[in-house]
Amino acid sequence: MSETREFQAESKELLQLMINSIYSNKEIFLRELISNASDAIDKYKYEELTSEGKVPGKSYEIWLEPNKANRTLTITDNGIGMTKDELISNLGTIAHSGSKEFLEKIKEAKEKNEFDIIGQFGVGFYSAFIVADSVEVHTKSINDEHGYVFTSDGKSSYTIDEEDLSESGTKIVLHLRENSDDENFDKYLENYEIESLVKKYSDFVRYPIKMKVMEKVSSKNEEDKDLTDNQEEKEVVKTLNSMIPLWKKNKKNVTEEELNSFYKANFMDYEDPLLAINLNVEGVVNFNSLVFIPSHIPYDLYSQNYEKGLKLYIKGIYIKEKAHELVPDYLKFIKGLVDTNDLSLNISREMLQEDPRLKKISETIETKVISNLKDLKNNDYDKYLKFYSLYGEHLMFGIYSSYGFKKNVLADLLVFNSLNSDKEIDLKKYKDEMKEGQKYIYYASGKTVDSIKLLPEIEKFKKDGVNVLFLTKNIDEFAFQMMNEYEKIPFKNITEHDKDALSEEEKSDLEVKEAENKELLDNMKEALGDKVDKVAISTKLVDSPVCISTQNGLSLNMEQTINEIPGDEKAKASKVLEINPNHELFKAISEFKGDKEAIKKYSDVLYNEAMLLEGFDIEDKTSFIKNLNELMLKALKK
Ligand code: ADP
Repeated sequence: MSETREFQAESKELLQLMINSIYSNKEIFLRELISNASDAIDKYKYEELTSEGKVPGKSYEIWLEPNKANRTLTITDNGIGMTKDELISNLGTIAHSGSKEFLEKIKEAKEKNEFDIIGQFGVGFYSAFIVADSVEVHTKSINDEHGYVFTSDGKSSYTIDEEDLSESGTKIVLHLRENSDDENFDKYLENYEIESLVKKYSDFVRYPIKMKVMEKVSSKNEEDKDLTDNQEEKEVVKTLNSMIPLWKKNKKNVTEEELNSFYKANFMDYEDPLLAINLNVEGVVNFNSLVFIPSHIPYDLYSQNYEKGLKLYIKGIYIKEKAHELVPDYLKFIKGLVDTNDLSLNISREMLQEDPRLKKISETIETKVISNLKDLKNNDYDKYLKFYSLYGEHLMFGIYSSYGFKKNVLADLLVFNSLNSDKEIDLKKYKDEMKEGQKYIYYASGKTVDSIKLLPEIEKFKKDGVNVLFLTKNIDEFAFQMMNEYEKIPFKNITEHDKDALSEEEKSDLEVKEAENKELLDNMKEALGDKVDKVAISTKLVDSPVCISTQNGLSLNMEQTINEIPGDEKAKASKVLEINPNHELFKAISEFKGDKEAIKKYSDVLYNEAMLLEGFDIEDKTSFIKNLNELMLKALKK
């Protein structure tokens, strides 16, 4: 019985774009359909190997069949096929989330008239409508006794009929569009065109892509004199692809170009990867692997549904899409695949997860990614900085989440903006350029480089020419605390309240000043209540009158980061209001030291001023403004 259904709204939108065919790169439709065919065979083969004889083996093939008389091109596979429900959910709706992103991208590109960048994007089944104005999908699933045929002109609806089919698999018939002035669709009926497209895009597909072609063969019949050179045209079956997967080739023979196009075709990206790593590893565990770092952040990287992992093949057979055991969390942005002969195909998925060999592979990949990143940093620093701007915080996360355990391997990959440099520098460079007698690697944190440069505590470093590393990501300071030091030189936050960095002379000078001003400091502390734990004389300020420092290791930024995480546990930094003893304001306030009422107002204004200077908001704006106005009035009336 025939049943007509509407495409889902997003599908209609995508189809509309296909039909209007704004593509400059129409030929990718074949790659997409062959890739689906190959996936379907992978799935069948997996069933065969794990079903203990229930699913029979067969010779796996993909067939291409152009028919000039009907103007059709047919793509057939003997893979897993689709049930009726699968037809509806896979072809009636946008099946892969990549298509949704593509839809967004294509709309953006359309507005800017930039169509070329999207030509290489994986768009799946719907790309059939780029070249066809009507498509039939004949399919039978291994899980369904019936076969079905799906037909559609790709506009708003499709029809599904039951059909008698014996073998499982899928046959897609494309009714090619009419030629137009600027587009020739007939070329997709020509053998040489099809052959060259398969070579170009699908050469590594692991199943034979076959086509019947006419070939001249030497005639055995001596009497057949009519044919020149004793040759006759005969129909032969030709396998169009070489079938050796790219990752199985010796890496010396694989070009960067090949890696890039493989990545784009298989990992739903329209841009070359930032880095492609090709591994042929022989050792405790033998495996081949291709690892890619995308040159833009995967659009779903920060969504809850994001799954890290590499595609896993065992003995060339596809096992699963995302083997997450192969990728440590902090490298979750890498894409790629692993193929190993060392694991058994019959291993259950649960056992697989526990297998120490997978762990070994994961460790090797991690090491290789790190060493490739080190090479990139040494050989192409600008490109490395692009990498770091995209994924640097993940490296910091690696240090943090390993409780500093990975600091030795990752520390040299970190780069920072800093007070004394226009470009990011690494820890080694910071260390090499330290001033004589400098005991610490100084850092400061804030939302942006510009906001850090405005911190009052920075003034002294500017004056003394001592460099300060700028940490701009929330995770950075937490990772720094886990690291604690770099090559035995401890880190020091410039907003930390402590006397460790002072010379003996500075220390005793400070003690004298604190004793002299004890009454003022005590009164200010009392006035501020539990907003601060201490009011102190500052040794770091040059021009600013005040700053807020913190003690006990939790900075204001860390406090804020922790408190942004939903939950009841709130963190509280121990704040110290530091006053600049050389500032005019300090001298003026000192004169009021016994006048508690006046001190209360000044302290409140100064505290809030300091919070603003540190880049934070004022908690009680009303009282701040009231106090400020009162003080202004007093001054104006004088
Ligand atoms: P993708 O392949 O990226 O998931 P497609 O739009 O190309 O997206 O296909 C949607 C789904 O339809 C596939 O995931 C697969 O389940 C199914 N499908 C497509 N082509 C075939 C095929 N030749 N055989 C079996 N299933 C197929």
